[in-house]
Amino acid sequence: MSRPELRIRTDRFLANIAAVRERIAPSDLMIVVKDQAYGHGLAWAVDTAVQAGVRRFGSYDIRSGIDIRRRLGQAEHTDVQIFAWATSTDEEIDEALDHRIDLGVGTAEYLDRVLARAEARGIAARIHLKIDTGLHRNGLLPEEWPDTIVRVRAAEAAGHASLVGIWSHLAEASDAEDDEAREVFLTAIRTAEQAGPTPEALHLTASAASWWRPELRGTVSRIGAFCYGIRSADGPDLEGILPVAELRATVVDVRGGDALIGVGSFDGLPSALAGAFVGTPAGPRELRLVGETSATIAGWSGMAVGDEVHLFGAGEHGESSATTLAERIDTVGEEILTRLTPFVHRVIVD
Ligand SMILES: *Cc1c(COP(=O)(O)O)cnc(C)c1O
Repeated sequence: MSRPELRIRTDRFLANIAAVRERIAPSDLMIVVKDQAYGHGLAWAVDTAVQAGVRRFGSYDIRSGIDIRRRLGQAEHTDVQIFAWATSTDEEIDEALDHRIDLGVGTAEYLDRVLARAEARGIAARIHLKIDTGLHRNGLLPEEWPDTIVRVRAAEAAGHASLVGIWSHLAEASDAEDDEAREVFLTAIRTAEQAGPTPEALHLTASAASWWRPELRGTVSRIGAFCYGIRSADGPDLEGILPVAELRATVVDVRGGDALIGVGSFDGLPSALAGAFVGTPAGPRELRLVGETSATIAGWSGMAVGDEVHLFGAGEHGESSATTLAERIDTVGEEILTRLTPFVHRVIVD
């Protein structure tokens, strides 16, 4: 093996999904698969999750949502719901309607366009309306909410829309702020209920809040990171959750007391990770320097060309998790994964 390898452990993904579902029940898992399933690979993630019985996917953008629908098969898994929340072009909206993609709608302008496209196509758009609960990053303001509900209910009556969800995203800066966000969320749901049935998908929480704050969970929880075994930055390890991806490289040269491995910043390994510990056949060793196409590791006795080094993983060889590496450079674990280039060979392991 000369190219670095990202090993994707299907058994761990399945175990994490099971642990998450058990923890959040009766809230239903919507697995978030944005950024090519956080760098693990979209097709693999969809196949595995659907086989495990997951019936909701969060894609972020419509294009990936359509990729998921195609992967599932147009005529199969018709009960699977795919949620795309990126504000999109009219052409994309048309495609989303044709592929039964649920649309996250967070502005009046986008709502107008979605309803216009649905009317033109004679299809009822499946809408999850987003209330701004304080993050101020897309979402209808509480003062716009009542009029928006009137508009959506009218579109429902005309057959152009179906209000299937109400949602928001938490800042997770403090419990108190999240509690306030929940109050705004619940008020928005009550307003919608006064003019029609309660939407089936009520979703507010992502990984951390879904896991730690049961009182904030809605009928659905949107979870990415924990399903891939990525703990929160500065958060604790989680019971029953293990990293799905492991990055390995082989020793390509031995120089003095150091080992050179075949992975570097050109592969997406941040050079600022120098100083971190990686796993070697002799246990943890310091990553001394990250070059462009290779990295230098403090050596061990008996080291030889071809030895395997684990850059991140579950710690079996003394390596850190992706999140522990990320904390050194003030980012989140998923970024360590999504930065890896396609040159890093993805190997799926059952
Ligand atoms: C990424 C994302 C999630 C998933 O967050 P995790 O912390 O990875 O579980 C949920 N909701 C939205 C809107 C997101 O963008």
